Amino acid sequence: MQQKLIFYYSAMKGGKTTRIFQKIHDLEENGQNVIVIKPWTDTKGKTDIINRQGERRPADIVLKPGEDLLEKEHMEKLWSSDHIIVDEAQFLEPEQIERLWAINKRIGIPISCFGLKTNFQSNLFPGSARLFALADEVIELDSNSLCICGEPAKFNARKVNGTFTMEGEEVAIDGEDTRIEYVPLCGACCFEKVYRKRKVEK
Ligand SMILES: [Zn+2]
Repeated sequence: MQQKLIFYYSAMKGGKTTRIFQKIHDLEENGQNVIVIKPWTDTKGKTDIINRQGERRPADIVLKPGEDLLEKEHMEKLWSSDHIIVDEAQFLEPEQIERLWAINKRIGIPISCFGLKTNFQSNLFPGSARLFALADEVIELDSNSLCICGEPAKFNARKVNGTFTMEGEEVAIDGEDTRIEYVPLCGACCFEKVYRKRKVEK
């Protein structure tokens, strides 16, 4: 059977990490050796992956920007694995996604990547764009995430000090005078409250 590289995506707060814990549990129950990778860019939980129920598990590999997955130290872990799981895969660099693809196709280890499709500007994250191009399957997860209007949320909007914005870096964290939060929105609300408003202001 061909071993696949699969990208599972959902909106923020859609319950992705809970799905990851389920998947790890199912695989390990079947005696599989699972290796978990998370990007260093995702500082939540430090070197652990965590879900909102408070479950945590240490990541086997925390991958920094520019770091090569084919390094000996990483490859020793990956060789012994039956399944590779990637949390917050949108934060990996396109080159790092290509390394995963190489590992999947050359060694035949199945890889499940979980992440977001789009950033706060409704653009594909570079890592997600590479996954859309290279993955054998791209699967949208049923999302628990609801927009403020009650519709299922598909977009992740950014609020800075309480105001929606499309300005700023792709990855932003709270600063001294800035409070940053992310709000899951449906397409209609994202257009009305974020995109259209931006057009008017310009
Ligand atoms: Zn809405």
